[in-house]
Amino acid sequence: MTLERLEEKRIMELRLVLYPDPILRKVARPITEREIADGRIDGTPIPQLAESLLDLMRREKGVGLAAPQAGLSIRMFVVDIGKEGNGPIVAVNPEIVESSGRVVSEEGCLSFPGIRGDVRRHTSVVMRCLDEKGEPVEHKATGLLARAFEHEYDHLEGALLVDRLSSARKLFLRRDLRRLEEEYRERLAAARGPRPQGVTRP
Ligand SMILES: [Zn+2]
Repeated sequence: MTLERLEEKRIMELRLVLYPDPILRKVARPITEREIADGRIDGTPIPQLAESLLDLMRREKGVGLAAPQAGLSIRMFVVDIGKEGNGPIVAVNPEIVESSGRVVSEEGCLSFPGIRGDVRRHTSVVMRCLDEKGEPVEHKATGLLARAFEHEYDHLEGALLVDRLSSARKLFLRRDLRRLEEEYRERLAAARGPRPQGVTRP
């Protein structure tokens, strides 16, 4: 087995969390100073966690993914906008410290398959965070990268794409949203398993 294969094996298989899973509505908790000093969260090395998030993001063909979308309610996200960007960015405990300009553009979200809509964002932002090694970094971003930072930051606050859409757009998308809600209920019911057979109820 090559070293590369070994590296691959260290990636955890994370699963994408879809709307309306309640974890997406929680305000994610900060990663503690202790966890940063240890370089681990719940025993998992932070770089490995970052790789696993990037892996899930790429499998789902996204340009960004926040930890709550992988079922982890912690303040961490990854972004990789491809050629326009400078490679993958890992943000631990991010803060958006400056923002300016306004632009409306179409946006989607991996947790809302099939749903897109116009969202107004800042044209440029400055974000401070730690990287996967716990080093402080500042990212100045414009355009798609700024949009991705704001979108992923929203996830850490429990804010979602639907909250940013106009009411007209939400009305237009109501069937698609209802479909996601029904599919969620079906998955929950399937996870609970079938009802016990032969039990008579009064
Ligand atoms: Zn999203």
